[in-house]
Amino acid sequence: MSEPTLPTRTCVGCRNRESRGQLTRLVVIDGELCLDPRASLPGRGVWVHNRACFERASKRNTFQNALRVKTLQVPSALVGQIPTGESDS
Ligand SMILES: [Zn+2]
Repeated sequence: MSEPTLPTRTCVGCRNRESRGQLTRLVVIDGELCLDPRASLPGRGVWVHNRACFERASKRNTFQNALRVKTLQVPSALVGQIPTGESDS
């Protein structure tokens, strides 16, 4: 193992590991899932690649498990703030 260790996070949608810069962070604030565009908010966060990964995680209640909360509000406007990830690869 000679490769340098880059900080990576696991996308909760597809379970692939990725460098932080390629992922969008979400945090829970007062029981509500919020975008953390600068990845700077305190607390437990989850990471997704894009909208497709967000929706995949949302359908499986993956956010609650990853964030270790019993209930979680996902605002309907939130998905619109997540990059689609389809314009570039
Ligand atoms: Zn993903």
